[in-house]
Amino acid sequence: MKNFKIEDLITLLKENDIKRFHFVFNQKDQKIEASHEVLNNIADFINKDTRDFEQHEGMFFQLTHKYDVLQGAFVHRTKRGQAAGGVRFWQYENLEDFLRDGMRLGKGMTHKNAMAGLWWGGGKGVMIHNPKFDKNDKQYREYVYSEYGKFLTRLKGCYVTAEDVGTSVEDMENIYKATRFTTCIPEKIGGSGNPSEPTSRGVLSGMEAALEFIGETLEGKTVAVQGMGHVAEPLIYHLFNKNVGKVIASDINKDVVETVKKRFKDKNFDARVTKKGDNSILFEECDVLAPCAVGAILNDDTIPKIKAKIICGAANNQLEDHDKHDIALAERGIIYVPDFLTNRMGIVNCANEQYGYVNDDDFIERHLTKDWDFSVYKSTLSVLNEAKEAKKSTSIVAIKQATELSMHLHPIFGHRSIEIIDSLVDEKWYE
Ligand code: NAD
Repeated sequence: MKNFKIEDLITLLKENDIKRFHFVFNQKDQKIEASHEVLNNIADFINKDTRDFEQHEGMFFQLTHKYDVLQGAFVHRTKRGQAAGGVRFWQYENLEDFLRDGMRLGKGMTHKNAMAGLWWGGGKGVMIHNPKFDKNDKQYREYVYSEYGKFLTRLKGCYVTAEDVGTSVEDMENIYKATRFTTCIPEKIGGSGNPSEPTSRGVLSGMEAALEFIGETLEGKTVAVQGMGHVAEPLIYHLFNKNVGKVIASDINKDVVETVKKRFKDKNFDARVTKKGDNSILFEECDVLAPCAVGAILNDDTIPKIKAKIICGAANNQLEDHDKHDIALAERGIIYVPDFLTNRMGIVNCANEQYGYVNDDDFIERHLTKDWDFSVYKSTLSVLNEAKEAKKSTSIVAIKQATELSMHLHPIFGHRSIEIIDSLVDEKWYE
């Protein structure tokens, strides 16, 4: 499939007059089936894959009439409710990378939502930017996102979208013009707003749980933070409120470093500008390391040089290779708090946005307490304790716990989204 370029797929779709298509899991035969015969070889590829494919309930696609943008909704598991997760606008060279990314991200949302105790299933939207057009062109974006909204309406809500990498609140507004099945709409029209502050408190809770696990607290500790953006800045504020001894931070953006430095000028705060690719912050002498910039920074190169005893941050997909780097960290005795436990507040903040906005909403705040069973704090402790007992990596245990939770049926709707998916297939939604 690596040789199957996105342009080849678009040509194939056009030659066969296909505007929309799907790959849906047939529960009886236990395999993915394509909506169109000419796409059977793609279904075969998915069925054979054991890395990213995991009985995804349905994957739906459309090619936009203008601009040739391929848009997808990867619905993984909906037992806890409709699939919820953000939509990203990204560039892919080949079909395999696109499908793998969508399937992996959809599955990741199932884990994140289930572990957070949300009554939502997991799914992800992925759209392929067409490099022939300017990604920042207003007309292009308006069209692409409003078409995505129409696409979601056709899918009858088995997937509910949200903001993600490469997607802005304005883009979400364009989706909202064409569908009710979205969250993260602008605050001025009832949206939930920027989740970065609650996300920073989620990371703080994860750190406190990891320290509690080894009988310590944040007081007097040194914390190194990679990135000084929307999550990291409030995180640094909360860390000083917890009386940490020192915070060391880095960012590739000089202006960001200057602004944050000014804010904490009276604190024991050491911040520096780094070049892209300079990961020296990860190797600082510190107690806790908080990756809050980019993913894949825990890898063969960096892990041997890390001195922190705990890693707990907001960045998505911190492990470059989920199958081996969590084990490499465990072997070095480093406690890794899986990112999807601590950075959940993004989805928590917007997932129930359609019910309106409440100040100090208990449904959000309870994630940041120490007593609710699904709080970041308790989930983290539960994962760390089980990992220690079972002598397994924290990532493996967190995924195991999340998978079990993802099998629980929504208390009111049951497995309603699978009925929606069945109806889409029966009614040939793609015609
Ligand atoms: P942001 O863009 O506001 O901040 C990221 C900062 O990292 C920027 O200032 C950027 O200049 C800096 N940066 C980029 N590459 C770097 C590098 N190699 N070294 C040092 N600094 C670098 O993003 P954010 O909202 O603060 O999110 C941070 C991370 O957390 C991202 O990976 C994001 O996907 C993840 N996340 C955020 C939320 C949220 O609520 N904002 C929720 C879940 C996950």
